[in-house]
Amino acid sequence: MAAIAHTPIVTPASRSVTGTVAAPEAARTCTRCVMDTSDPDITFDAAGVCNHCKSFDQVMKTMVRDPDKRRVELEKWVDRVRAAGKGRDYDCVVGISGGVDSTYVALKVKELGLRPIAVHLDNGWDTEIAVANIERAVRGLRVDLHTVVLDWEEFRDLQVAFLRAGTPDSEVPTDHAILVSVFQTARKLGVPYMAVGHNRVTELILPPAWSQGHYDWVYLQNIQKRYGTRPLTTFPSFDFVSYTRFRRFARSHVWNILEYLDYSRAGAMEELTRQVGWRNYGGKHHESVYTRFFQNYILPRKFGYDKRRAHLANTILAGQTTREAALEELSHPPYASERAAQLDRTYVVTKLEMSDDEFERIMRAPPQRYEDQPNMLNYRPFLAARTAYRAVKRFLPAR
Ligand SMILES: [Zn+2]
Repeated sequence: MAAIAHTPIVTPASRSVTGTVAAPEAARTCTRCVMDTSDPDITFDAAGVCNHCKSFDQVMKTMVRDPDKRRVELEKWVDRVRAAGKGRDYDCVVGISGGVDSTYVALKVKELGLRPIAVHLDNGWDTEIAVANIERAVRGLRVDLHTVVLDWEEFRDLQVAFLRAGTPDSEVPTDHAILVSVFQTARKLGVPYMAVGHNRVTELILPPAWSQGHYDWVYLQNIQKRYGTRPLTTFPSFDFVSYTRFRRFARSHVWNILEYLDYSRAGAMEELTRQVGWRNYGGKHHESVYTRFFQNYILPRKFGYDKRRAHLANTILAGQTTREAALEELSHPPYASERAAQLDRTYVVTKLEMSDDEFERIMRAPPQRYEDQPNMLNYRPFLAARTAYRAVKRFLPAR
């Protein structure tokens, strides 16, 4: 990573009371999308176009964009998933949060005549709307639902540990647990495929400096060891064996179904509302109170990262909004009012059983980086185990 990534981009003086971050002196915004120097690793070409725009163009070249060809590819996937599910209870597993993307995946898989099982991770932060959306979707679509409920005391301790660590990755515990729960359910029930709502057309841009380590159980477990107060005993986390197993599975059994459809978030919301009575809950990933607070309060105020920026940049490149409309949206603070921000702050701090003082100390502490924590890229015991595994891998059965 470039040395520039070490430079803290937010100083307390540059924060305004509303939580927006004043642009530093050298701030620069891409002339095509809206990504800017709040991504410490951003680069620009002579025309002022950023590296994210370049990556987007590259990835689009590798994707099937022609509607007819895409339909053929989609049919191939459906045949493959259906054939693999023959003689089993389910064809594919779908992680469901109550949000747009995951609920839409469940809807589409069902429409394509497949037999999904939905898995929901209850981490204690679901909004009422999210819970109602899940109930309506599984009932309306007649899909079986398996809910994994986290041990709240253990999970609370892990979330606080991530806040104390001071990296911008406080959503890693939830994202990690979702992935592990969905994968483990598939394994336990013998479900051959996993359909996911990740879509590179609208979700490609996310600077690594803003969030990383979602699969990284070494990182997660070390954060808990360093900053937590109890061991993780029930939390769904990978270990060396299950992670290796998942990597093999992911190579050919994870289906990014949205990439084979003409997907737009607005269109998906409209379809979900009409078909299963789904209700909108506001911004992207705001089906969870913690996610809403983390993205709209902690990330911009402590780190200077506004996730809306990455999302809007991607939406511009996908041709679903204009740069002007995106800039207009970004000119408003992420919370509709400071009162709404403070209500969420009180709720989250109280629920996490933190003192106001500790939370404020965390907000004032200098941001830390993933690279400086033990993780899969630098933790010696893990690297040694991986080297040993690679040496014996060729003697192991294929699956
Ligand atoms: Zn750009």
